[in-house]
Amino acid sequence: MENIKKLGFDTQIVHAGNVIDPVTGSLITPIYQTSTYVFNNAEEAAEKFANKGEPGTYLYTRIGSPTQEQLENKLAILEGGEAALAFSSGVGAVTTTILTLCSQGDHIVSANSIYGSTFSFFRNHCKRFGIETTFVDATNTENIRKAMRKETRIVYIETPSNPVLSLVDIEKAAKIAHEYGALLLVDSTFASPYSQKPLKLGADIVIHSATKFINGHGDVIAGIIIGKKAILDKVRFDGIMDTTGAAMSPFDAWLIIRGMKTLGVRMRRITATAFEVAKFLEKHPMIEAVHYPGLESHPQHELAKKQMNDFGSIVSFEVKGGVEAGSQLMNNVMVCTLAVSLGDAETLIEHPASMTHKQLSREERLNAGITDGLVRLSIGLEDAADIINDLDQALRKIKL
Ligand SMILES: *Cc1c(COP(=O)(O)O)cnc(C)c1O
Repeated sequence: MENIKKLGFDTQIVHAGNVIDPVTGSLITPIYQTSTYVFNNAEEAAEKFANKGEPGTYLYTRIGSPTQEQLENKLAILEGGEAALAFSSGVGAVTTTILTLCSQGDHIVSANSIYGSTFSFFRNHCKRFGIETTFVDATNTENIRKAMRKETRIVYIETPSNPVLSLVDIEKAAKIAHEYGALLLVDSTFASPYSQKPLKLGADIVIHSATKFINGHGDVIAGIIIGKKAILDKVRFDGIMDTTGAAMSPFDAWLIIRGMKTLGVRMRRITATAFEVAKFLEKHPMIEAVHYPGLESHPQHELAKKQMNDFGSIVSFEVKGGVEAGSQLMNNVMVCTLAVSLGDAETLIEHPASMTHKQLSREERLNAGITDGLVRLSIGLEDAADIINDLDQALRKIKL
């Protein structure tokens, strides 16, 4: 479709990047479930290896496959980027990108409220390779500026952040990064391409755990980055092909293309439910605090309205009675399911301090706003009334 970039989000999500299979005419992208590709002769093999990694050149599935290429083309259009690159996990996307773009002696400025594994990758592993990270409270972008050095290569933020739903002003962070000749990387997993377009606000690379909203059905682990072709080519050639090998499998790419077609429909539904749940929790006598960017009580509600099209479906909250009350709540729920991950059809409930953010020390958690009793809820596709009634009955059963 020629004018796809001018069409609406839901139309793009269905049609962007699609190529009708030239052999069979198959409407749906086939799963090219093969590890290797056959050449007609030695000359063709040599020519294809000379064009390694170029679109339409297939040699070996770690280096690219038609199924994965179609997913990348779709996501590039949805995020408004020149190119996209698929990975076997969100963490694989983060580590490959950072290890490709940074060398010994380089410096990273990172928000302190980020995904647990990203945090420990910066703190422990980058440090082992001589890449130092300064963690700052990036909700005030002046803290980013204060931490910048001449050797800073990357400014890394996550907005809304996991699990406290704090926001970073993407436009301001991009300006600061660029003033110092650094790149701005934004983990936009919590927003999905439906709710936020970081590249349009000046980010250089947007990162998603495609495990979450993009796939949306809880049956894949995957990551994706989107941005300028020149930067992504470096990550593709020096990173994924030669170094980390964190390539996406054709079957996973196919599942994501399939799951993604309903992204707009799902996001509208779960965001509406999340808003109802957040309002219910805010009024509940057993609840001490609710974090949801759509609520007027959220300290960055104005920024959320400015840089997001919608507020997403993750709600986190503190139950009166701390960890003990939170544990009882998680043991009492029946419709909500006790599990990590998010963006699935099922409403998932978890305890960051003992589960997803256990790698952080207590002090690091508190710096990121993760209190001991914080509970994270990823709203699913069930009826809003059933989720609310379930939380209500589980809260009533708490005995301290
Ligand atoms: C889940 C998640 C990741 C990691 O992605 P995986 O697909 O689990 O490797 C990174 N960032 C955020 C915000 C996430 O929620």
